[in-house]
Amino acid sequence: MKQIVFATNNAHKLSEVRRIVGDKFDILSLADIGCHDEIPETADTLEGNALIKARWVKEHYGYDCFADDTGLMVDALGGAPGVLTARFAGEHCTPADNVALLLRNLSGETRRSARFSTVIALILNGKEYVMTGTVEGEISTEERGADGFGYDPIFIPEDTGLTFAQMGADAKNAISHRGRATAALIDLLASE
Ligand code: IMP
Repeated sequence: MKQIVFATNNAHKLSEVRRIVGDKFDILSLADIGCHDEIPETADTLEGNALIKARWVKEHYGYDCFADDTGLMVDALGGAPGVLTARFAGEHCTPADNVALLLRNLSGETRRSARFSTVIALILNGKEYVMTGTVEGEISTEERGADGFGYDPIFIPEDTGLTFAQMGADAKNAISHRGRATAALIDLLASE
């Protein structure tokens, strides 16, 4: 089976993507290749940060690799937190801090539309590719559900009425930002 590195150590993301990709590729994490570097995510776009991570692995470890960067864009906040989604509540904040801050910032706000976007940068056989997946939705007024991670308890994808945290993994993957970007990734990997 062909090996490819997914430049993450986030166990939730790894299991989501391994589940989508199936047994066509052996997906290695950063820990699997002995990479414990703090890869600097200094770009001001999702695409820029995904490319930094993928290029870092290729340059320093020699593996073909893909990396993702995800942002949550909330219309009433002018597109924030966007590229700062992971660090919305501060440099060393928890997902619970981020969720609490977002709910506080939208308190009393009726315009709750938002979207998740994932950009995947892939380096394969000497070429670079960039794929994007987006899901439209809205921010709930309180946390609901226990599945998933990050902002899942407060993101309601359109036409569902449920937060991501109230859906099973398969239902989330079928419509999510990461599911859509990963589908494009699989098409590309399959064509190689
Ligand atoms: P990253 O760029 O993938 O590290 O994600 C940035 C931020 O978005 C982190 O705070 C994640 O917890 C959050 N995030 C990424 N993907 C998801 C998701 O599928 N559901 C909810 N939150 C997510």
